[in-house]
Amino acid sequence: MSVDRSVIAPGATIGIIGGGQLGRMTAMAAARLGYRSHIFCPEEDCPASQVAPTTTAAYEDQAALTKFAGQVDVVTFEFENIPAESVRILSQTAMVRPNWHVLETAQDRVLEKSFFNSIDVATANWRPVRDLPDLVRAVGDLGRPSILKTARFGYDGKGQVRIDTATALEEAWAEMRGAPAIFESFVDFEREVSVIVARGPDGKALCFDVVENRHRHHILHQTIAPATISAAQASQAEAIAVQAAEKLDLIGLLAVELFVTRDGRLLVNEMAPRPHNSGHWTIDACSTSQFEQFVRAVCGLPLGNTTRHSDAVMTNLIGDDVNQWSDALRQPQTCLHLYGKTEARPGRKMGHVTRLFPFGRNGQSKN
Ligand code: AMP
Repeated sequence: MSVDRSVIAPGATIGIIGGGQLGRMTAMAAARLGYRSHIFCPEEDCPASQVAPTTTAAYEDQAALTKFAGQVDVVTFEFENIPAESVRILSQTAMVRPNWHVLETAQDRVLEKSFFNSIDVATANWRPVRDLPDLVRAVGDLGRPSILKTARFGYDGKGQVRIDTATALEEAWAEMRGAPAIFESFVDFEREVSVIVARGPDGKALCFDVVENRHRHHILHQTIAPATISAAQASQAEAIAVQAAEKLDLIGLLAVELFVTRDGRLLVNEMAPRPHNSGHWTIDACSTSQFEQFVRAVCGLPLGNTTRHSDAVMTNLIGDDVNQWSDALRQPQTCLHLYGKTEARPGRKMGHVTRLFPFGRNGQSKN
């Protein structure tokens, strides 16, 4: 793949496909550096549309996408469940960063795990599953407990079934509704961590500190920065992220989620080629936030310093948690971020708070 090294200077317009909170915070960071943003999103009044002009059209609407691409200097995305084919077609006429192939790989758990294994990065043991006989064979090979997940369009634990000793395989397969799936051995992990790497068109890559993620009901609840892991594990996680970004020829951000096993190994769970919920803490605790870094990488500017000046605990405000906004405003060292969503549905990410602690003092840090 040829490397496009063009620099897009401040004053230009960044086209962002996807209009959620990630697009909103990217547009806010872009504005600070003097860029304009233009959002492409199928929903009216999406969070990003409140801070930047927006084209409202379906992701499959190629004519609307092409028009949008003609109005911007570079196209990126904040969401991976957009048709990779639409982005591939777009990249014939527009500069798209990261490249569409990255999107295609990240959208499909089978392609994603194959990719990591092909670069000698360990994952849980897995098998592709297209029908019930595949599932029966996979259980025969890898045993139980295990997890069956739809290969595509899964997030926050949606489209997943745990397979325990008593689980009927017909029922588990029925939950996939005929969609291609992946069967994974259950990892008895000690903790879940993630790392975000930024990579520019010149190939320079920089990571933010590795963080620990705690989930509730399959949704990210808290991110603790930094993660309580050894320096060697942190370096290994960063090396995996950098290696993946290089092999994918990625320009932009790549978030890699990993399990730390009880015997200290790192297994990649998944990746996202965009800003990530586990990087929100960087807005308040680092010299450069993940959103600014995303803009810098996509536009070919020098990457910013990723040093953490404070330790941090980021807590998502899910559904009705958003009603705590005024308490958060009264807390010292607590930064409130709301996404402008009107309806607080259960499970919906409405905002987050980041609590800052003196460097090395969040009570979790080893180094
Ligand atoms: P995912 O959608 O793959 O990110 O999975 C959501 C959550 O389910 C993860 O953050 C883990 O807590 C859990 N999970 C996913 N895959 C596995 C696995 N193979 N073993 C154990 N837990 C898993």
